[in-house]
Amino acid sequence: MIFDKEVRQADTIAIAGHIRPDGDCVGACLGLYNYLQENYNSLFDKEIHLYMKDIPESFMFLKNSDKARWNFEEERQYDLFIVLDCSSADRLGEAEKYFSSAKRKICFDHHASNSGSFADEVVLKPDYSSTCEVLFEAMELEKISLPIAEALYLGIVHDTGVFKHTNTSEQTMCIAGKLLSKGVNSSKIIDGTFYEKSYIENQILGRCLMESMLVLDGKVILSWLTRRIMELYNVVPANLSGIIDQLRVTSGVEVAVFLYELEPQQFKVSMRSNGLVDVSKTAMFFGGGGHKKAAGYDAGGRLHDVINNLLAGLEHQLAEL
Ligand code: AMP
Ligand code: MN
Ligand code: MN
Repeated sequence: MIFDKEVRQADTIAIAGHIRPDGDCVGACLGLYNYLQENYNSLFDKEIHLYMKDIPESFMFLKNSDKARWNFEEERQYDLFIVLDCSSADRLGEAEKYFSSAKRKICFDHHASNSGSFADEVVLKPDYSSTCEVLFEAMELEKISLPIAEALYLGIVHDTGVFKHTNTSEQTMCIAGKLLSKGVNSSKIIDGTFYEKSYIENQILGRCLMESMLVLDGKVILSWLTRRIMELYNVVPANLSGIIDQLRVTSGVEVAVFLYELEPQQFKVSMRSNGLVDVSKTAMFFGGGGHKKAAGYDAGGRLHDVINNLLAGLEHQLAEL
């Protein structure tokens, strides 16, 4: 493994990803957690801790998902902190506390917006589909057990939108094939974690589509959820995945935008592009990041101001085409 020596030397290791973890983040964190536990901790002489909260319920079948912790009261200094699928320290949420104090910091990521300098060593592959793909390359094939393969496969499935986004390369498919050879039940993961929705998730998806608006000459589609509506339907951010993807496939649209209110007047903005617009540029302008075709940021203020500011940015980008 790329950091074999570092892992061997460390007695205490922390692993964490970005806040509000998606499939790639959860898959990478649990894939690595299980890999280190199974291959580097036979005598259990190392303390390996995984920091993650709000893991979507459908991912909880992954081995050791119940070991994730989110408690930062103790003063701790880890020998090694490994950050996954996260492009800047502020995206670690409260885990940033232990990250900052750690003796050594390594990051595995695929976000083009990652500056490459927030850890001691950054393994950054912007042209890889997912952090799980980056991690797979760093692992030894014979040391990948079925639970590790399931986690990595789930991450690749989610960040590629089930192998349909243009980040899906020949290598991605080869890696997916190797993971399948470990015994991964592909349709269980794809249906059970990507397509299956609860009744309420379908309702909120339907509502967002019904209330969506075409703006900027039909080039941008926009939809949003306020706290009031989220409370009415009793949904949390993890219930909203997939809404942006459905907006994006509207014909004629270049960019899809979906916003929801995290806290009063605090919005999470997601953007997807069909290729012409680089949404990571817009996201970075507003303090966020991501990839050319999928990016996001958090924005404070009134909903209409957030939307107006964003549309001005997108209008500017569309005008340059
Ligand atoms: P999302 O819309 O949350 O699915 O995110 C799309 C892409 O943008 C993912 O690769 C995220 O990691 C990235 N992203 C979303 N929000 C932020 C943010 N606030 N800062 C940096 N990157 C983000
Ligand atoms: Mn992610
Ligand atoms: Mn990712």
